[in-house]
Amino acid sequence: MRISLIIAAGGSGKRFGKRDVTGSASFTTKLFYPLLGRPVFAHTLEAFQTVPEIHEIIVAAHPRIISELSKLIKSFPKQVRIVKGGATRAESVWKALQKSNPKNEWIMVHDGARPLIEKKMISNLLKAANKKSAGGYILAKKVVPTLKRVEENFQIEGTVDRNFIYEAETPQLVKRKYLFEAYQNVRRGGVTPPGSGSGRGNLAPTFETTDEASLLESIDVPVRVVNHNGWNPKITTMEDLRLAEAYMAGNDRVDIKTGFGYDIHRLIPGRKFYLGGIHLPFAVGPLGHSDGDVLLHAIIDAVLGAMGAGDIGDWFSDKNPKFKNVKSMKFLEAVLVEARKKNFKILHVDTVIILERPKLGDYKNKIKIHLAKVLRLDPKSVSIKAKTHEGVGLEGSGQAVSCYAVVTLGEEK
Ligand code: MG
Repeated sequence: MRISLIIAAGGSGKRFGKRDVTGSASFTTKLFYPLLGRPVFAHTLEAFQTVPEIHEIIVAAHPRIISELSKLIKSFPKQVRIVKGGATRAESVWKALQKSNPKNEWIMVHDGARPLIEKKMISNLLKAANKKSAGGYILAKKVVPTLKRVEENFQIEGTVDRNFIYEAETPQLVKRKYLFEAYQNVRRGGVTPPGSGSGRGNLAPTFETTDEASLLESIDVPVRVVNHNGWNPKITTMEDLRLAEAYMAGNDRVDIKTGFGYDIHRLIPGRKFYLGGIHLPFAVGPLGHSDGDVLLHAIIDAVLGAMGAGDIGDWFSDKNPKFKNVKSMKFLEAVLVEARKKNFKILHVDTVIILERPKLGDYKNKIKIHLAKVLRLDPKSVSIKAKTHEGVGLEGSGQAVSCYAVVTLGEEK
């Protein structure tokens, strides 16, 4: 099964902006607002990173978020393309659909503002699509409240049999050829063909159509729902975001783990000084088998500690010639890949660097911004602290640099 994933991120986020407690005038920040320390959209993208059936990811984005989005996608292993979204969701998806690879026979569409999507929900959708023969499958939730159908004067006409009512969510997985066909139909004026779903109360498709299932329904292609027991809301208002954060923090499907790391390297003249992946133009640098980046080594040990996966020496032995003069950022990247595979997410990093001289000064902020990008965290969730050693010991005499790190991980069950 080959899938093109289209993420709809073309909305202006107006409903969110109006309620933004920060008073921010920017209406397009919803997808970049921190949710448990990471931008909303980073959570959304993350869920799809390890789905092997997804061969390409296209984000149909509102023009106002394109530059911020371009920066965010760089830190994800799966390549992401961005296309300019349209005036409506359906138009945005149509624009992305035309750019998708025709070799991928399935199109999966997901709302950018549904960051609580879980890998399990995606795999259940794929399982359903693999077993059956419908033209589309959508993630949906059985409706729980008692629903009343009313007349114009609000008099109750009847109670809806909720056994057959589902709320449509995303992802929606549909055969590429049917989605194209449905869009062609829309482009011809949205005329519903004879014998089509209109008799069953379906809406004629237009560029206002709010999901892909409706488009397929309009050309009589069977679409099935795949129920789930989780919570996969679309974040629209600040209240939604707060609820989502509380849900994620209190969710018993996420275990919080803490890891601790420490490292020290001797400083010698003439070595390049790397700290947190940033090159510092100092006259001394840490001696080491790799680049001797103490900050990254401490962070890596903390991440491995939280995962219960040994230490940096087990993974990247200084006896192994393969790792000689290797940039430690490569080690961190490899550990992050492993963390993702094991369903761990990094939520927060706190560090203390002990360096007598030279002073780190502005580099602290530079390192923080760089690490936040690599770790896909909001910079507020990355803390870089530095201190001297009051002239005491190896660090104090300028012979060494050391570092402590505490990392908080969430383990998704
Ligand atoms: Mg080291």
